[in-house]
Amino acid sequence: MKKILLILILLVAVNSQAQKAENIIIITTDGFRWQEAFKGMDEALAKDKKFNQNDSTYIYKKYWAENINERREKLMPFMWSVLAKKGQIYGNRTLGNKVNNANPYWFSYPGYNEIMTGYADTLINSNKYPANPNITILEFLSKQAKIKGKVAAFGAWDAFDNILNEKRAGFPVVSAFDKVGGKTPTERQKLINAMLADSFKPFHEEECLDVFTHYGALEELKTNKPKVLYISYGETDEWAHAGFYRSYLDAAHQVDAWIKEIWDFVQNDPQYKDKTALVFTTDHGRGDLTKAEWTSHGPQIKDASEIWFAAMGPKIEAKGEIKEENQLYQDQFAQTIAKIMGYTFEANHPIAKEIPSVLK
Ligand SMILES: [Zn+2]
Repeated sequence: MKKILLILILLVAVNSQAQKAENIIIITTDGFRWQEAFKGMDEALAKDKKFNQNDSTYIYKKYWAENINERREKLMPFMWSVLAKKGQIYGNRTLGNKVNNANPYWFSYPGYNEIMTGYADTLINSNKYPANPNITILEFLSKQAKIKGKVAAFGAWDAFDNILNEKRAGFPVVSAFDKVGGKTPTERQKLINAMLADSFKPFHEEECLDVFTHYGALEELKTNKPKVLYISYGETDEWAHAGFYRSYLDAAHQVDAWIKEIWDFVQNDPQYKDKTALVFTTDHGRGDLTKAEWTSHGPQIKDASEIWFAAMGPKIEAKGEIKEENQLYQDQFAQTIAKIMGYTFEANHPIAKEIPSVLK
């Protein structure tokens, strides 16, 4: 009898261990608003000549539906089918479900630092801030025996070298116009590098177009099979700053399609299938209370700290869109990521607690 009990206890222990994710893919799209994530295209902006790039017909044809759920599905079809069914989506303030930056700055470096370190460090107050003194969840995971050598990060923006402290981190941070594939690129990686070098550079040398970051990351996933992969897309923010509402929507729609592509690969690969979690979020919000302020963010824009968070995979219950009143903060993401992977994130700086409702 005692033996049977012991076996049962062991089985339960093994089973709860098995629930954690073995791999995780973290994806951010810069400055993408909860307003579009949950409500789809905004009519006022689509109609506004200042913002619609003389293309309101295209915007309406591609993204408009009378029904709000159909409308958001048109913009983010993967998010509102697979992710909404298999995972959890936080941040619909229409229902009182709130996610905010804990940092007081509401722009990129402080936001990415908060996502990655679990610490809303007020000393990080500039996008030009040097190498991050705080430890990121990526660096913490890369030190774990089972994960060592299996972490990679891809960011369209060159500041990720500093945000993730590439020099100290010990894993590759491929940002902006960095070449992919290291010293022995595959034929496909050589082509990505050649096209990247010759590509249109609307953001100069600071940031590449998302398509290159995506294909670089996808090749990494297929060739090196990382256990922890971070991808940061940047065009949603760039086109919003430019006031190009059509391009902003197109960039978000493309990111959604790329996440589907990544997920389809993951779910057809034996290392990843049913063992991989996906986290999708953003670094900051943008204005909306004053419509014209949708282009901007930062502490001078009252509602720019409003963000959203989505996750699915092992260890994450399938609750869909979270409809309860609640308040979450961005500094909770890092520990949540650690717990999804079965670890407790520790560093020599404060780390906010995980989001308990995410975890099984
Ligand atoms: Zn940003």
